[in-house]
Amino acid sequence: MKTLTKELQNQISPDLALKLLKDGNLRFVNNLKVNRNLLQQVNETSESQHPFAVVISCMDSRTSAELIFDQGLGDVFSIRIAGNVINEDILGSAEFGCKVVGAKIVVVLGHTSCGAIKGAVNDVDLGHLHFITHKIQRCIPQLKKKYPSASESDLCAHVTKENIALGVSDLKSRSSILEEMSYKGEIKIVGALYDITSGVVEFIDT
Ligand SMILES: [Zn+2]
Repeated sequence: MKTLTKELQNQISPDLALKLLKDGNLRFVNNLKVNRNLLQQVNETSESQHPFAVVISCMDSRTSAELIFDQGLGDVFSIRIAGNVINEDILGSAEFGCKVVGAKIVVVLGHTSCGAIKGAVNDVDLGHLHFITHKIQRCIPQLKKKYPSASESDLCAHVTKENIALGVSDLKSRSSILEEMSYKGEIKIVGALYDITSGVVEFIDT
């Protein structure tokens, strides 16, 4: 597994970028992770970086993008925030990753048993948390209507998936840069769900 150079990054299409992430997760799940010389990668990335992916994932300690996709130094822009919600700073970071540095895919990665989702479902109000929960709560009324007899854990599962779809849609509707790059086929913007009990990432058709 080579450290990415500008030339190698240029050879990666958005479809290949998706495949690289899927292959990496398959290695992770099968405990076949690539044996990287990280110190060598420190040297090789000391002048510049050319990551192929932007992963927007939760801050949850079990969902580190580099680990679950079996990637090394210089491969992934890892943007982490509770509940993998989208705000202006996240939009700017994703735009930088794709438009300036040349990443080919943006993944909004939610996960099962997410504390931020549970907090949103239970309307937890603490300090600044409401900035996050309010973003997630946008989808709850419609889901409660659609699944009136859902248990709390079932509702959380529905909200988790809908929150991923909202993230993908926010990236496209709120960033003309990302929307245009996606329209031109220069990048892919996709949603995915990480199962904390199995390690499996399921890419979701949003
Ligand atoms: Zn979480």
